[in-house]
Amino acid sequence: MASAKAPNRRILNSLLQWIDSDYSAESPESIRAQPDGVNLVRCIPFVILHLGCLGVIWTGGSWFAFWVAAALYFVRMFVVTGVYHRYFSHKTYSTSRFGQFLLALLGATCVQRGALWWAYHHRHHHQHSDEPEDAHSPHVHGFWWSHIGWITSRRNFPTDYSKVRDLARFPELVFLNRFDVLVPVLFATGLFLSGRYLEQAAPALHTSGAQLLVWGFFISTTALFHGTSCINSLAHLMGGRRFETSDDSRNSFILSLITLGEGWHNNHHRYMSTTRQGFYWWELDITYYILKGLSWTGFIWGLKGVPDSIYHEAELRNHHDTVHRFSISSVQDEINTLRKVVPTAAAIAIATVNSPEVSAQLKKAEGPAIHRDVSELVPDGRAPASTPKPGA
Ligand SMILES: [Zn+2]
Ligand SMILES: [Zn+2]
Repeated sequence: MASAKAPNRRILNSLLQWIDSDYSAESPESIRAQPDGVNLVRCIPFVILHLGCLGVIWTGGSWFAFWVAAALYFVRMFVVTGVYHRYFSHKTYSTSRFGQFLLALLGATCVQRGALWWAYHHRHHHQHSDEPEDAHSPHVHGFWWSHIGWITSRRNFPTDYSKVRDLARFPELVFLNRFDVLVPVLFATGLFLSGRYLEQAAPALHTSGAQLLVWGFFISTTALFHGTSCINSLAHLMGGRRFETSDDSRNSFILSLITLGEGWHNNHHRYMSTTRQGFYWWELDITYYILKGLSWTGFIWGLKGVPDSIYHEAELRNHHDTVHRFSISSVQDEINTLRKVVPTAAAIAIATVNSPEVSAQLKKAEGPAIHRDVSELVPDGRAPASTPKPGA
């Protein structure tokens, strides 16, 4: 009897966590100590998100719905990179407390859980990049695990508030993080009601409530999820390396296009405290351009630049090669890698996921970690002048 009740309790626990993500019968520490594995109940939101896209079979499309989906992808990709990543995870600029709340509210529409959960896992990634402890390294756990699997694992569900103390001291942020389903539900409902209104008020747009829900929420959010996940998976596999970081982060023009600038991931792993990820004018970083524009309005301020020491280091290494490499042929190289990476990655994923022996073999050579625990760096909003070079 007791053994039959245990799985039921676990399912009930998972269902309650959809409403209150901090609810748990177990301590967060004991959940985080569990082995990695795909949790089927936690897969349900992803299944719903992807199946929702199939609603297009019944709702059809319209140019209006298409542009709503594209605009919401663009705006929310900026929010993921410029807000969840460059503000909440790394504090590379400042804003007022109300501004911070607005940013967290916008972030919640991206359906990538709360700002504190996102920042905690991202800081953890920088601390343990491409080591077994890294929750989403394609080198340790395989492509599909790094792309989507890790989010379905129970041990990655709780937010470790002790690692984001600088954010956890704001109850309004903790509220949004705890009830992380609230804003997405309101957002989807708002899209549906807007479509219903436009159906009557502007019939020339040929849209409807169901159509805006499918295109604006399901299709746009699914594309946003996979675009963002490319940074966890492909940005450690595809592209060139300017800096000799202890992880395998890469700089990729294609990923920068998809993610509005996050593709300069090797730059970012070398120096995460700057608002910029494209360090040079030819490294397209749309998120940075928008943040720069926002700083002129006074809504945000204190954007952090790239220190001279990092530019010197880049010059000493392969600056001239990098300038040369930025040609159509380098993009072609990335396309060729992409062709190879995805099928190969699927095979690696099957072979390596849940295999600690292989994980240990694939672990990068031990060396001085260049990534500091950013949770220790950001409480007062200040960042270090420079991270030490490996071996320095
Ligand atoms: Zn990374
Ligand atoms: Zn980062």
